[in-house]
Amino acid sequence: MAPRFEYAPAPESRDIARLKPSYQIFVDGAFRDGSGESIKTINPADETPLAEVSEAGPSDVDDAVDSARRAFDGVWGRLPGRERGKYLFRIARAIQERARELAVLESLDNGKPIRESRDVDIPLAAAHFFYYAGWADKLSHAGFGAGPRPVGVAGQVIPWNFPLLMASWKLAPALACGNTVVLKPAETTPLSALVLAEILAAADLPPGVVNVLAGGPAIGAALVAHEGLDKVAFTGSTEVGRTIQRTLAGTGRRLTLELGGKAANIVFDDAPIDQAVEGIVNGIFFNQGQVCCAGSRLLVQESVADEIVTALQRRLSTLRVGDPLDKNTDVGAINSAAQLAKIRELSQSGEQEGARRWSPDCDLPDRGYWFAPTIFTDVSPANRIAREEIFGPVLSVLTFRTPAEAVEKANNTPYGLSAGVWTEKGSRILWMAQRLRAGVVWANTFNRFDPTAPFGGYKESGFGREGGRHGLEAYLDV
Ligand code: NAD
Repeated sequence: MAPRFEYAPAPESRDIARLKPSYQIFVDGAFRDGSGESIKTINPADETPLAEVSEAGPSDVDDAVDSARRAFDGVWGRLPGRERGKYLFRIARAIQERARELAVLESLDNGKPIRESRDVDIPLAAAHFFYYAGWADKLSHAGFGAGPRPVGVAGQVIPWNFPLLMASWKLAPALACGNTVVLKPAETTPLSALVLAEILAAADLPPGVVNVLAGGPAIGAALVAHEGLDKVAFTGSTEVGRTIQRTLAGTGRRLTLELGGKAANIVFDDAPIDQAVEGIVNGIFFNQGQVCCAGSRLLVQESVADEIVTALQRRLSTLRVGDPLDKNTDVGAINSAAQLAKIRELSQSGEQEGARRWSPDCDLPDRGYWFAPTIFTDVSPANRIAREEIFGPVLSVLTFRTPAEAVEKANNTPYGLSAGVWTEKGSRILWMAQRLRAGVVWANTFNRFDPTAPFGGYKESGFGREGGRHGLEAYLDV
């Protein structure tokens, strides 16, 4: 057993988040109360209320779309790319300046460890704005024709797992291409998008270019169905994605969908075992496994299966689960009671269907939404835990003997978002990558994100790409 080190608590102060008692929606360049209900957003780590959030009602959706249309026709759609680029650079720098505040705010509202919000979410959010700022005056050279035009007004709906990062993935390419936006963050994590609205206002972004509407599924549904939009971009569950696709069918409005996943992380017997174990842990326990591209199915070659599972269990015993604001924490809180119930239900089904469940000894806090890191072995490909997206810190381990069997099992899913391959042979990586039906294939790493790289799915994981040059296409009239 590896020695277990004790760490003194090293909490980041919650004062850094500069939480306000209440937050308002952002429409036409101004903050105002929405005509919907006022809700309390809570800290999932201890279930205490963080702030009151005024939600949008249907009339606010109309106002926001009208404002975005006026901004598109009046200013933004006509502004030269180099001028738009200046705004995006300014926003990127302001995110960096307020990075610490945003990181603490994100960890409070979402439950993710500060180590991740500080080192991944916020820096990547700024990086997306920097990257697309650079494209704004070079669109004629992006491979989409000589003078590509923006699409118009975009409605964007995002989930709660990477609130600020998903907002940045959506906003940066849309704005760089000259579109205006109405953005709806998820109901459990509205705060960082509303602080981003403060940043946009401080950057003097013209009124209406971006509107931010806090609200739940009903506001999301009203937004995506709005006739004033030219384009809808959605990240979330496959079920809601299907509903949106039905809503938009025949309207001529453009749509991109980034949906769920059930990624295979495939480990061959020639892989560097310690490195692979770190990659497996990062693949499924990063952000408590609430990641659409999480490596939730571990496919391990039979000859090294016992060795890998033993090494994984040893590693999991050293993970620190607890206070998201503590800089030593590896695994934080689950985002909501509903998500926790879903993880529990699917894990129980794993036991009922005959898989073997294991978790390290760890003391979970009494209050808040917590789930211990969990590994299932003896999993059959037919089990629900091998087929359905759990969206939690739960790994299902399956084995294979040959590369062909690995490909067959990896592709045996309705999803196709990501995959990982661990082997020392470059030729095998390429052989696998050609055969895996996944939008992203990582080799000897996992969950690596970069604004220059396109990201998106096949099959029920959706369509369209975000990130990179490819990410411009969804926002250009090509
Ligand atoms: P969700 O689909 O329930 O909600 C996502 C967003 O859609 C929220 O803002 C919600 O308010 C809104 N919404 C709900 N019903 C709606 C409707 N009928 N019309 C319009 N909007 C509606 O998903 P979730 O539980 O918030 O997020 C988890 C899911 O998101 C997972 O399945 C995960 O795989 C997926 N996800 C995918 C990606 C990706 O890039 N592919 C990234 C993050 C999350």
